[in-house]
This record gives sequence, C-alpha cells and structure tokens, in this order.
Amino acid sequence: MDRFDELWVWTDTALAASLGWYRDVAVNRKPAKFVIARTIPVELDLDGASEEALWSELDALTPVFLETWQGIRDRGAPLGSPASGPSLLDLCRALTERMLAHCNFCQWNCAVDRRAGGKLGTCKLAADTRVSSYFHHPGEELVYRGNRGSGTIFFTSCNMRCAFCQNGDISTDKDNGEVVSAETLAAMAWLLRLEGCHNINWVGGDPTIHLHTIVAAIARLGDGREPPDRDRLRRALKTKADPFHDFNLVEGRALYDGRFNVPMLWNSNFFMTEETMKILRLLIDVWLPDFKFGPGRCATRLARTAWYWDTVTRNLKWLADWGEDFTIRHLVMPNHLDCCTYPVLDWIAEHMPTAPVNIMDQYHPDTFCDPRRRQYDPKYEDLSRRLKRDEILDAYGHADRLGLAYKAITHERSRLGLRF
Ligand code: SF4
Repeated sequence: MDRFDELWVWTDTALAASLGWYRDVAVNRKPAKFVIARTIPVELDLDGASEEALWSELDALTPVFLETWQGIRDRGAPLGSPASGPSLLDLCRALTERMLAHCNFCQWNCAVDRRAGGKLGTCKLAADTRVSSYFHHPGEELVYRGNRGSGTIFFTSCNMRCAFCQNGDISTDKDNGEVVSAETLAAMAWLLRLEGCHNINWVGGDPTIHLHTIVAAIARLGDGREPPDRDRLRRALKTKADPFHDFNLVEGRALYDGRFNVPMLWNSNFFMTEETMKILRLLIDVWLPDFKFGPGRCATRLARTAWYWDTVTRNLKWLADWGEDFTIRHLVMPNHLDCCTYPVLDWIAEHMPTAPVNIMDQYHPDTFCDPRRRQYDPKYEDLSRRLKRDEILDAYGHADRLGLAYKAITHERSRLGLRF
C-alpha cells in the first residue's frame, strides 16, 4: 500500500470524507479529472468556432463530464478511451487562449489583450508565464505534503496587493524566475509526479493570472504523447529548487490505466471570475482557497482589492454546491480578529460548516509591513508585529464555539513526532 494512503491524518473521518476524491487520485485508485476530460469528445472546430460557440459547447458538455466523473467516483464506472479527436481538455485550452485576448481570468476583468503586450492589467503580465521555482514542498498541510512532498510550482506576480505578502519576493517581482512554455511546465509536473509528489500544487503569487499556460500544460499531460525529451527536461530543471538526484523517477507512481495521472491542486486567493471557475471545475481535483479578509474595508486597505468578499464567498459557495474536495486556509493577522477572523469563521460556519479549515498562526510582518525593511510603510503599523498568543487562542476559541472542523488540519504538526 502507498504510504500516503496510510497517513494517520486519514483516521480523521471528517477530513477523509472531505478529501476522498483527492486521496483516491493521489494513490492512482481513480483517474484525475483531466484524464476524464480527455475521454469526452468535442464536435467543434476549436480554431474556427467563435468564442461564444466554444462557451456553448463547454456548457453543453459540463453535465456530460459531471455524470462521467460522478460515475467513476461514486459507482466505480470504468474510465473510457481517450477521444480520437479534440476533447473537452482541448476545449478548455482553446477557451483560455481566447480569454487571454480580453483577459477576464480574475475578477479585475481588465479586458486587455495580453497577447499584444501593450496595455497591461492589474497583474502587469502579458502572455508570458514565469516560474520562480518549483520543488517537493515539505511545509504544506500533511494531506498535501504527505511523505514525499507537494509538487509545488510557484508563478510570479499577483492580482492582489497584500501589503504583508508572505511571498513578496515572488508576487511583487513579475520578472522573477524563468519564462516557461506550456511544454516545459508540463515537464515540471511530470518530473514532480514521477519523483513521488502527491499532487501538482499550482500557486504563486497567484496561479489564476497564468491560467492559459497552466491549462495548456495540463492538456499536454493528458494528450497521451511521449514523456518530455531530454532538451525539455533540461529546460525544466533550470528552476527546480530541490536536488534532482535525491529522487528516483518511478513511472508506476504516475499511472492510472496506463495514462499519466496526478491530482491537480489549485492553491489560490480565489479572486477568480465565473468563467475561470467553470473551466477549472473540469480540471482541478482539490482546491486550497485562501480566505483572508472580512466584509469590511480591510481587503481594500491592505490588499488594494475591490469586490474581495463577494467574489471569494461566491466561489467558495460554488465549491460546496458542486461537491468538490477542498480545504480553506485562514491566516490570522494581528489586530484583525474582529474585522477579519471572526466574520470569516462565522461565514464558513453558516454556509459550509463541515469544511476543513486551517487556522494559520504563522503570520510574520513581511513586504511593506516589516519595520526592518526599507520599503516598510508605517500606515501598516497594525500588521507590523507577530501574533500574540491570546490572538491565536481567541481564534481557536471562536472556531470551537462555532463547531468548525479545524483541529485535524490545523494542529497536525504537533502530532508529527508521535506518528512518524
Ligand atoms: S489576470 Fe486578472 S489582473 Fe491580470 S489582466 Fe487578467 S483580469 Fe487583469
């Protein structure tokens, strides 16, 4: 049996129930969604059809996909053969290419043509995608890092401007890292999975602003072609941040019914449009949304982001309504319990009371909130210190009173020494 399948954390029955699909895909008991999408044929000229026609096709095929996925997930239905021509996977790729011409990947809805590279949107990106680094992440939640790491790929830039960003070197420097093609990105994911990672963890900055390259890479992984050649692997290795020779490539770790298989994990601020959610619904096996700010003015003041609460709560509700696997992260911030932590936890309790929540205590002043840095801005004084013990205990106490499912995923590290 796969050691990942034996992690003590799965003895928490609520957590195991919430992440059942993801766990099955991670150990290759089930095929990932992108593998299923590849079996659904598309009767449309993807290059010649209008964008409107492509969306109509997606809307028509989504129920077909869901029925197929649910049949495999719930009733053990067999996986079909790959489509002989274009598939739903290709349709997703074609749609993101069209969206790039009037970018509406995220809720800013900038409508700029990122292929032209003239006028740029809030993320300051044209069509290129840059990867800052990628590696077997040992620091994610146990359900994601497992015993061999979460296959985490860090993209540059962001669509939000969190003054305290804990990844500020990546999110505020759009020219960090290396430009990658979809082929190279697919090679990175391929390497991580064959080396034993339990998932491909798309993160940043934020992955949403790189949607077109990520979806094209996933389509490449699902197209059944040969593994990446030597030249592609050499390019992929340029930004790999863990030693290649530490890991053996084992093909059997990555196959379902002879097809490349790995769960896709969307690790995001969740400031996405409805269109992006509709595409990702067909490709993402497990979601890891950040839910940071309350409904007041904190998102505007601290992250210069409008419509934050409405957008994130809408997208979270869809996850719950759609029966998706997900865990929520909430980073507790100093001086922001009344305005952010309590309303966020209250909302979760009201709308998705069984959702696993990681109430994170690792806040540290960073980027524009760190008084030791040159770019420190005193207007963020409220965020210029670490959490006090009472603040994190108050957050846990509030979650306890609400009956939230947070303990297994929040406190698992304290059990690590006992179990491994
Ligand atoms: S990804 Fe978001 S911020 Fe960037 S151009 Fe598109 S809509 Fe604007």
